[in-house]
Amino acid sequence: MSNTDVAPSEVTCGPSGFTGVLHAREVPLGGPRAIAVRRTLPQRDRTLIGAWCFADHYGPHDVRSGPGMDVPPHPHTGLQTVSWLFAGEIEHRDSGGVHAMVRPGELNLMTAGAGVSHSEVSAEGVELAGLQLWTALPDGVRAPSFQHVADLPRLSGPGWTGIVLVGSIGDAVSPAVVHTPLVGVDLQAEPGATVRLPAEPGFEHALIVVEGQVAVDGVAIPAGPLAFLGMQRERLEVAAGPTGARLVLLGGEPFEEPLVMFWNFIGRDHDQVAAARADWESDAALPLGDPRRRFGTVPGHGADRIPAPPVPPVRLRPRTRPVPPGG
Ligand code: MN
Repeated sequence: MSNTDVAPSEVTCGPSGFTGVLHAREVPLGGPRAIAVRRTLPQRDRTLIGAWCFADHYGPHDVRSGPGMDVPPHPHTGLQTVSWLFAGEIEHRDSGGVHAMVRPGELNLMTAGAGVSHSEVSAEGVELAGLQLWTALPDGVRAPSFQHVADLPRLSGPGWTGIVLVGSIGDAVSPAVVHTPLVGVDLQAEPGATVRLPAEPGFEHALIVVEGQVAVDGVAIPAGPLAFLGMQRERLEVAAGPTGARLVLLGGEPFEEPLVMFWNFIGRDHDQVAAARADWESDAALPLGDPRRRFGTVPGHGADRIPAPPVPPVRLRPRTRPVPPGG
């Protein structure tokens, strides 16, 4: 997935004092045949949940009667893409030579490191729905890689089931390789059931309700927004509403490294993301397959690519310490 804002701003990411519900905004994805995605991260009031730094929720889209996802080759740096489908199928190709299908219940994790490029095209089908999440990488992770995990650990309790995408809940440990302490769990609860999970008090936690509604601490959370639950929770109790619920729990240790996000790039400062942007543009002048291309070549697309938008003229400084509420 690509950030397809035509004029994205540079975002400095860091801890904030905000807790509560962050509403999604609709963003077109994929050019003229765009599908709309609901973006809940980053936002001005909160840019990170642990190292989770980007959250798009899309669908359900009927791919027979309308457009699907068709995102040509585009670059990433400094992040992992976590692709998670509720319905449909997406074909992934990347500059590391990986050709993989993204399917419901199976995790696709692409580590950009110092630079990777990829494409995502949805297969013909009835329905497409899913989440695209990014995690910010520590600066030391430079090597690109790709991991497909079809056999993720399962959880269950009275009236509910779960799948651990990354991190762990008790003895259920995902084999997905992440680089900071993180957790991500897909949960499905029957009407009136309460999901009870142990939690890491040092983590920031948030929920995205995909279907139905839930209540946490007696506060109703509808489908759509990202609900930030704060820190210092030793357990999580999520009560499903009268129609049941499907939701994704995200959590992680506060990400302390300075972090600037621009378009599809994450770096430590303005200069790093500006250099990545310049390198993606200069790659286009080099032949396909040329080893001098920083972001490599995605097979099967010829010269098709998403051009990078201009870097904003304002030079941003990354935040390196918590900003107090209202600051
Ligand atoms: Mn992408």
